Amino acid sequence: MALHRWIYPLLHTLHFILSSDAARTYPANEVTLLDSMSAPGDLGWVAYPPEGWEEISVMDERNTPMRTYQVCNVMEAYQNNWLRTSWIPRDGAHRIYIEIKFTLRDCNSLPGVPGTCKETFNIYYYESNNSNLWYIKESQYIKIDTIAADESFTQVDVGDRVMKLNTEVRDIGSLTKKGFYLAFQDVGACIALVSVRVYYKKCPLTIRNLAEFPDRVTEGDSSLVEVRGSCVNNSEEYDVPKMHCSADGGWLVPIGRCVCKPGYEEKRDICQPCRTGFYKASSLDAYCMKCPPHSYSHQEGSSQCTCEKSYFRAETDPRAMPCTRPPTAPENPMSTTNETSITLEWSPPRNSGGRNDITYDVHCKKCVGDPRECSLCGSGLHFIPRQFGLTYTKVLVTNLLPHTNYTFDLEALNGVSELSPSPNQYVSINVTTSQAVNVILKERKSKDSITLAWQGPDHANGLIVEYEVIYYEKNQKDQNYTVLKTKSNSMTVDGLKPGTTYVFRVRAHTSGGHGTYGGEIELETSQEDMLAIGDPNQPTIMAVSVAGGIVLLIFLVTCFVVSGRHCGYIKAKQDPDEEKLQFHHGQVRLPGSRTYVHPHTYEDPNQAVRDFAKEIDASCIRIERVIGAGEFGEVCSGRLKLPGKREIYVAIKSLKAGYSEKQRRDFLSEASIMGQFDNPNIIHLEGVVTKCKPVMIITEYMENGSLDSFLRKRDGQFTVIQLVGMLRGIASGMKYLSDMNYIHRDLAARNILVNSNFVCKVSDFGLSRVLEDDPEAAYTTRGGKIPIRWTAPEAIAYRKFTSASDVWSYGIVMWEVMSYGERPYWEMSNQDVIKAIDEGYRLPAPMDCPAVLHQLMLDCWQKARGDRPKFGQIVNILDKLIRNPSCLKTLASDAAWSGNSLQDPCTPDSSTITTVDEWLDGIKMGQYKENFASAGYATLDTVVYINSRYLTSAELE
Ligand code: AMP
Repeated sequence: MALHRWIYPLLHTLHFILSSDAARTYPANEVTLLDSMSAPGDLGWVAYPPEGWEEISVMDERNTPMRTYQVCNVMEAYQNNWLRTSWIPRDGAHRIYIEIKFTLRDCNSLPGVPGTCKETFNIYYYESNNSNLWYIKESQYIKIDTIAADESFTQVDVGDRVMKLNTEVRDIGSLTKKGFYLAFQDVGACIALVSVRVYYKKCPLTIRNLAEFPDRVTEGDSSLVEVRGSCVNNSEEYDVPKMHCSADGGWLVPIGRCVCKPGYEEKRDICQPCRTGFYKASSLDAYCMKCPPHSYSHQEGSSQCTCEKSYFRAETDPRAMPCTRPPTAPENPMSTTNETSITLEWSPPRNSGGRNDITYDVHCKKCVGDPRECSLCGSGLHFIPRQFGLTYTKVLVTNLLPHTNYTFDLEALNGVSELSPSPNQYVSINVTTSQAVNVILKERKSKDSITLAWQGPDHANGLIVEYEVIYYEKNQKDQNYTVLKTKSNSMTVDGLKPGTTYVFRVRAHTSGGHGTYGGEIELETSQEDMLAIGDPNQPTIMAVSVAGGIVLLIFLVTCFVVSGRHCGYIKAKQDPDEEKLQFHHGQVRLPGSRTYVHPHTYEDPNQAVRDFAKEIDASCIRIERVIGAGEFGEVCSGRLKLPGKREIYVAIKSLKAGYSEKQRRDFLSEASIMGQFDNPNIIHLEGVVTKCKPVMIITEYMENGSLDSFLRKRDGQFTVIQLVGMLRGIASGMKYLSDMNYIHRDLAARNILVNSNFVCKVSDFGLSRVLEDDPEAAYTTRGGKIPIRWTAPEAIAYRKFTSASDVWSYGIVMWEVMSYGERPYWEMSNQDVIKAIDEGYRLPAPMDCPAVLHQLMLDCWQKARGDRPKFGQIVNILDKLIRNPSCLKTLASDAAWSGNSLQDPCTPDSSTITTVDEWLDGIKMGQYKENFASAGYATLDTVVYINSRYLTSAELE
């Protein structure tokens, strides 16, 4: 035992080292199976032979005994000393780690020891399910390793420096039995085994992404193990939470996560309930939020806040949105009655209830008697755009009965109206309808009498008792007027002055009361010495009429010359058509009746065709080739040779076989419309073939076809002046149509035809409608296709088609022309176009477009139709531009341009008039240009010398 003196100082030193390691805490991922230092009592290890390993207790700082084993039989050779631990349970671990702390004497530092002195020892294990083996059978043990000291010590060192223990770790894998023994074999070294710790590794319980991952023993090999986590309390899986447990007890690669349930929010790995007054609606929201206005939560963990009394939340409302209320009633209801149509307008409610999804419903009641008894209006009415769910504060109601009292309840609604138990708030407006009688069908006249005929109202309120005809001499209304009554639909008014213009109006009187008067119609009695009007074969009529016109012109010329150039403008207010008779397709039209007649106003539409279109014998027509496809059949080109006239090229539209009577009527209605027009910029009707099949419409031939494809084929090939010339022609044709109170409704480049001289003519009268006498009253209709990109917003919204809406379309045609047939608004959808226009968007100037032209387009696209220029103004502006081409030099793309609507600096004054044509245009008598030219009046100077002799000789005819 003498050798113990080498060991003791070592152990005394050690106890200080070990005590500083006193806490003896180990990493969380290590599970200790055996720790010799913390064993409370005897370790109970077995040493064999007895003189080999020896247990020695030393005290640590806290006077806790520490068990150590030592052996130092270095003086004798052939040592084989075994020290075996007690049985160590495996505890499910697959891989076991053994940490050994020891000191080892350097053989050289021991005086007199023989060469058999060793500086290593061996470590073994033996797997066994038996925990009570008392013996050591060496052959059963499997060697783990031979352990050598990293750092041996010498006695000299002791006391001089802090000793450093040797620490070695070894592991054994693939254990299968319940437990095992470890054994330390000394073969002749001087060793102190200070501590033996046996442990295995696990991935410890952890919480990651609100998912709890349990303890997990690592695998024996180095593979990763996928572990599924479970969501912590009050949370739910967002995406399956998983982690991977590595062989050394670390968690790797977290995937997926849990999220706090509605009403809970995350705080340090747990889900805490929202405080009162707060809520969390969705598990995907990060935090609890304060209840929005007009709502509360009285409990913790609320997923939503309850609305205060009288406040509501619509199903689709976001939870963060304040609770809202139904709106108050609409305000300031107003109505505009147009006979049996009513426009209702109102202001939005004062209180929207806090929402911006207000819509309006219109409820209609029909009220009669005194006291008034009201009943619902039923389904016969037509609401434009609709009756319920209106988003604008305006609706047009049509199909009302005339002379009837209606009450309209205007109700404002929003997204929570139907949740509120209280009735919706509304405002009422009472309206009484009327109906005018304004369609004069026929008139006959003599020198002292005029016969009128009219159509009764469509929906009279009760039986028509009689009609009232009011008439007076033109401009004499204030002095004298006469009211006549009749039960029939026509009346002959006698006792009139010859050659005098009278104004007539008619109204119906029903059991429901008086209707409103229809529009004024002016009719003139015959001159005493004239032949009966209505006989188109009287050549003298033409002579007299032209002479009459020329007399007027003489007067105007004289006025022009005497008063200077401005005089032309003063006299221009006088409409020359009022002074002359028109000879028109074999029909004589009465002065003042310039209004175009819609074929539908004829009881027999065939009569309209007979009145306005010439019947052509099919044998006069030679069809040559197909040039297009129309709505009713093919369009061909060919020749027309009428007896006594030269052959001309014509376009022939034919009605395909198998047509219905209605199709025939509609097909020919175009001819009866076209036949009423006579203007160089309106496609000219040659006649119709109705007496044999196929039914045909013959028009002048336009060599270059429709304007849109014509421009597309010649992209960039025209000068600006040429393009403006085309636009001028179209505007002039449209002026003619609007003067006739004809509304085109489908003005677009595709409906303009171009002849070989590039003259543009308006065509396609299929959709067209007539304006009534009242300039404010526009014919509206339900159904029918509207060419959205070309149509004014008011015509789209509530079918308000007027000449002003034609002006809008004209602006689009300008854009088409200046962009060589580009599609307006390109590929935008119709809905987007409507929305964009409503929001103020307008087409930009096409490439190389003069600024003044784009400005004119923008003027045509004014939202308020009253602000748009009239066609007459457009023609004037274009004329001025043609005369002053320098005005076209500034391009819209040029920043220097500052458009100022119609008053641009290029506007020429009347002193620029230099030709007879300009002068005639200036005094609005452009239709006489040809007469003047063919009579040889080529310059203004010559006009001055026109005298009555020339005029009466009908030279200008
Ligand atoms: P519409 O039925 O009027 O739309 O005519 C169909 C197509 O026939 C037009 O797009 C033109 O290309 C052609 N077309 C119609 N009328 C004429 C005409 N008078 N001269 C030349 N081509 C015409």
